[in-house]
Amino acid sequence: MYTKSNALFEQAGKVIPGGVNSPVRAFKSVGGTPVFMQHAKGAYLYDVDGNRYIDYINSWGPMILGHAYEPVVKAIQEYATYSTSFGAPTELEVKVAELIVDMVPNIDMVRMVNSGTEACMSALRLARGYTGRNKVIKFEGNYHGHADSFLVSAGSGVATLGIQSVPGVTTAVAEDTLSVPYNNLPAVEQLVAENPDQIAAIIIEPVAGNMGCILPQPGFLEGLRALCDANGILLIMDEVMTGFRLAKGGAQELLGIKGDIITFGKIIGGGMPVGAFAGRREIMEHVAPAGKVYQAGTLSGNPIAMIAGYTLLKTLQEHPSIYTQLEEKTTQLATGLREAFGAAGVVYQINQIGSMLSVHFAEYPIVDFTSASGANNELFRRFFHAMLERGVYLPPSAFETWFICHALTQEDIEFTVNAAKASMLAIK
Ligand code: PMP
Repeated sequence: MYTKSNALFEQAGKVIPGGVNSPVRAFKSVGGTPVFMQHAKGAYLYDVDGNRYIDYINSWGPMILGHAYEPVVKAIQEYATYSTSFGAPTELEVKVAELIVDMVPNIDMVRMVNSGTEACMSALRLARGYTGRNKVIKFEGNYHGHADSFLVSAGSGVATLGIQSVPGVTTAVAEDTLSVPYNNLPAVEQLVAENPDQIAAIIIEPVAGNMGCILPQPGFLEGLRALCDANGILLIMDEVMTGFRLAKGGAQELLGIKGDIITFGKIIGGGMPVGAFAGRREIMEHVAPAGKVYQAGTLSGNPIAMIAGYTLLKTLQEHPSIYTQLEEKTTQLATGLREAFGAAGVVYQINQIGSMLSVHFAEYPIVDFTSASGANNELFRRFFHAMLERGVYLPPSAFETWFICHALTQEDIEFTVNAAKASMLAIK
């Protein structure tokens, strides 16, 4: 049933470290062999052995309207004939920047990069250049890409693989990153008090998605905003996951919180490799060549990536009902899952906001990395495989959020809930 995937994984292991190009894909925490994909359409993934899955990772976020969304595919095909890269400015880049500034609150300017990692790395450099300070506060279990400064108490694959400190990150760099538990405002206040005039930025996932989905508790983000304002610290909102997903203006819009620098990835490229950082003019004008904070990229603003992103973002802007429908579908899924877990008599927590959701098998609320780590991840592992066998592709780690796409139908949700019921019966 997985013959070709198994053979490919063995082949891959000889030429690609761990057989994958990004760690979480390797099924390390859930065990077993990763499934190799062949194509995808709408809410469905098809693997090389011809198995079909309902997709709940959606390329870890970008495919918000489903795979191979026709207008995006067509736009890519058309633009590819004009050349796949110029290394010179284009009108399209201006249109994309204008669109993003129009959709997202509190930003005047945007710089395109090629990944979420680059966006966060550049945002931190900008915050340091702007404030003249070195230290950054991040939250345990939040993930901001794999730049050195962020590989301290990180979520996502770092958490999944249980890497406490990453070889290759120097102590000097790590020492400038201070980390505190998510949702713990007093701990942040204490760090700020202990490091007067030294903190350049607080970086946060406004809704965490890299230790499962964890919501900010009431007052937490507001408290961070006030703390930043009182101490000349920049608030970097990492909206790589939440941007254009929770609302057209991201978490800033949905939660009513203002960031100073906002980072994007995922949806912004419509599935092509893109990221961006954005902010008020006064801050962004420090970026080279307007200012001295150097940041560059041969393929940044790549025309194929720009047209894919533009087409997707424009659709989201013009059809706000997509967000209400996404939320309805996700809520329906959560209700069905509650039924399935309830019937099986297992303890569970479902965290949900908009079209992000995650399941932790625990009897207490999941509010930070410690509570997420204490959940029954062995049960999640068995649940993951039981669902996979039944044609449902979940994130292969409890430390990841599920992403729901707009192509998901009523029947798909019912199919998923029935699969969850059958899975629980099979694994309990
Ligand atoms: N920030 C967040 C919140 C993310 O979830 C991710 C990736 N999952 C990144 C940054 C890094 O983005 P990329 O993988 O595109 O480098």
